[in-house]
Amino acid sequence: MIYFEHVTKKYEQSEGEKTEALSDVTLHIKPKEFVIVVGHSGAGKSTLIKLINREIKADEGKVYVGGIDYSELKKRDIPYLRRKIGVVFQDYKLLPKKNVFENISYALEVSGVKTKDVKIRVPKILELVGLQKKAKNFPRELSGGERQRVAIARALVHNPRILIADEPTGNLDPRNAWGIIEILLRVNQLGTTVMMTTHNQDIVNKLKKRVIVLQNGKVLKDKEAGAYEA
Ligand code: ADP
Repeated sequence: MIYFEHVTKKYEQSEGEKTEALSDVTLHIKPKEFVIVVGHSGAGKSTLIKLINREIKADEGKVYVGGIDYSELKKRDIPYLRRKIGVVFQDYKLLPKKNVFENISYALEVSGVKTKDVKIRVPKILELVGLQKKAKNFPRELSGGERQRVAIARALVHNPRILIADEPTGNLDPRNAWGIIEILLRVNQLGTTVMMTTHNQDIVNKLKKRVIVLQNGKVLKDKEAGAYEA
């Protein structure tokens, strides 16, 4: 599903120096896996996500997602690719002037889905994230956990094959954090590959999923479910 082969990504710093955000990373994430990526700030987690989402390109090595070789990807195919990859961020990124329904329907409308189909699809996704009753509320009227649920719902509108959640519980208290994790698990059970980053050791320990540890742009550990020790 996601395959990195000796991937290196460098960023140019102000003095013309280059830092390697990712150095010679090789990893393989299979379809329907649930993977946790951990690592200190600056370890390369966001760079990994941006490479998968094709926001940035690798300097060396190969990135394949869903069988597509990114080095051969045409610009015009990127919007299509992005629909297959849902992304959720720590700070939700909701549209403040749109209500919950509209925050989700907007993503469908901009890609040309018919109103009739939007009206069928949005309630189904709201149900999946447990927010049927909040469809008419605005983001400011929601708790952090509810906002994150809206963000997940929006990321799922195109029925992506991969859901990437970048620190999805970073701003939430433990109870809301677990509510979000439960949704990610459900989405995964329905067949979507899930990759999440987290700093929360409790979540890592309790989930017992594969953990990829990044350090200074390298894969320090990559352990299968249940084998991870802090
Ligand atoms: P993480 O998400 O684990 O905190 P990042 O992938 O954001 O790590 O960053 C990895 C390294 O790349 C860090 O040293 C960071 O300073 C550097 N970096 C990230 N983005 C940029 C950028 N746009 N320009 C220059 N350096 C960057």
